[in-house]
Amino acid sequence: MNKQPFVSKAQLDEITEHYPTPFHLYDEAGIRRNMEAVRDAFAWNPGFKEYFAVKATPNPFLINILRDYGCGCDCSSATELQLCDAMGISGHDIMFSSNETPAADYEAAAKLGAIINLDDISHIDFLEQTIGGIPETISCRYNPGGLFEISNGIMDNPGDAKYGMTTEQLFEAFRTLKAKGANHFGIHAFLCSNTVTNDYYPELAAVLFRLAVQLQQETGAHIEFINLSGGVGIPYEPGQEPNDIQAIGEGVRRVYEEILVPAGMGDVAIFTEMGRFMMGPYGCLVTTAIHHKHIYKEYIGVDACAANLMRPALYGSYHHITVAGKEDAPCDHMYDVVGGLCENNDKFAIDRALPEIEDGDVLVIHDTGAHGHSMGYNYNGKLRSAELLLREDGSVKLIRRAETPADYFATLYGCDELLQNAPYDTEKLKRK
Ligand SMILES: *Cc1c(COP(=O)(O)O)cnc(C)c1O
Repeated sequence: MNKQPFVSKAQLDEITEHYPTPFHLYDEAGIRRNMEAVRDAFAWNPGFKEYFAVKATPNPFLINILRDYGCGCDCSSATELQLCDAMGISGHDIMFSSNETPAADYEAAAKLGAIINLDDISHIDFLEQTIGGIPETISCRYNPGGLFEISNGIMDNPGDAKYGMTTEQLFEAFRTLKAKGANHFGIHAFLCSNTVTNDYYPELAAVLFRLAVQLQQETGAHIEFINLSGGVGIPYEPGQEPNDIQAIGEGVRRVYEEILVPAGMGDVAIFTEMGRFMMGPYGCLVTTAIHHKHIYKEYIGVDACAANLMRPALYGSYHHITVAGKEDAPCDHMYDVVGGLCENNDKFAIDRALPEIEDGDVLVIHDTGAHGHSMGYNYNGKLRSAELLLREDGSVKLIRRAETPADYFATLYGCDELLQNAPYDTEKLKRK
């Protein structure tokens, strides 16, 4: 069982001639194909809208592909809102699902007319004081507590999660918000991350739909949308059965017709805030093997590091690796594939069976299209890589340049001048 990259060895040879590794590469055709499947899976719901979780891949060129299909954006910081503003996205095309929100962020969200999704009951007063009122359209985030179980086991532990309001708080919040003038309501919950099962959304939808019926009956608040948020996962490991978005959409439709329609709520719009499912498989990190080290284990040193892709170091996540041009070679070598941070967890793979790797070989690290480049950081003075888009016509577009040392120095006090002499002038950093 193997995973094939979306880019061939011949294409990579051509791309690396123009752009040095490491870089993240994205697949426009794949993004479009998947987006069309999402749209079709929820076509039964006239109000359906996907709000792409900007944090997953905050690049306007990629978000604009999704915009072709009517997607909005899910933001949770003032900077993400600013990105939307710069792209001409505003109003109800933005869902603001933040937590521990600074006042300035609520001000920015209100100014853009975004739908605000409150994470806590105490934020009702905070929002009102901050923006001088309660918007007519408002959403509340729910946390049912306990364990979230589906037929084939425990999926996650919402009772341990910092997000959302308790059931009692949610009813109180709706009454308070209604009294303060809100008249279009939504509810939202994000209970499990990276679920690789077609049952997560339908099970979550059933919980939210029952809650919505109760909320509407008991508080009189008119519920217009139910936001299933993110959490739809992707098969990072070879042999994992991918989610079938058509089956997921059908599963949600079934509970919609079972719970909402009989309650006279057949006009409720379904919203999603997927990030990983929309972009994850359609990006990869391309890196070159630069060293081969033999001590107690075999190490392949590459020119990318955890600063370019944090998930393996942070969560121990599996990312499949293909050695370009050796797709069909036997995986008869055992390697740790490692980056150059002075951090022993900077390992893209541990004890991974791979074909024999020579210095100069190009490695494709799969499924980095979401929560990949965007989680990057600058530890050890490592610079974030470029992002490239492989267009449908086979051409390649630079959609974010690689950082330079000038970017790394840009925030240092007194370095404005230094910046003008970019990339940098070491004299300016010497103690005077
Ligand atoms: C991170 C996040 C998402 C996206 O999650 P994925 O797992 O990438 O689908 C959606 N909504 C909120 C509020 C989030 O924090």
